[in-house]
Amino acid sequence: MKAIIALGSNLGDRFNYLQSAVEKINKIKYVEILKISSVYETVPVGGPVQDDYLNAVIQIESKLESEILLKQLQSIEIELDRVREEKWGPRTIDLDIVAIEDRQHNSPNLTIPHPLAHERCFVLIPWFEIDSTSVLVNKGIVANLISKLDCQELRINQQSLVNK
Ligand code: AMP
Repeated sequence: MKAIIALGSNLGDRFNYLQSAVEKINKIKYVEILKISSVYETVPVGGPVQDDYLNAVIQIESKLESEILLKQLQSIEIELDRVREEKWGPRTIDLDIVAIEDRQHNSPNLTIPHPLAHERCFVLIPWFEIDSTSVLVNKGIVANLISKLDCQELRINQQSLVNK
């Protein structure tokens, strides 16, 4: 199944954390990275005053059950120095499952699609970049969702993530 994963970092060497996460995701058994977006610099949404984020989105092919995929991503967060403190506070790495094809999943641990994906420029713009025809289940065509938002503050960062 094809899945969209959102990556974010606003603490420490932000680009390095994103690149390390890409490399670790690529090493998960039964997961293959298909596409990687540009890196975007974004102003934090909600939470305390904190530094800007670097965000990106990847498309993967995953043969894992969704809760297992989440567990794998959470262990990568822990390996990459993620400390869970304040909700929406600064973090070295944040890995979210945005969507898994047109699947819907609701459990105490996992909501798919991600419940805030439709209102986040830093998810929708990089997702559109790697797949301009993408659709967010129950919310509509990603291009249309973007047109309803003000995504002016998103800036492309010159560094590119590589799949290695
Ligand atoms: P965050 O602070 O964004 O890393 O939130 C992580 C929490 O959200 C974890 O406890 C997850 O179990 C939960 N969660 C629910 N849905 C998702 C999703 N689609 N992707 C990632 N985490 C999720």
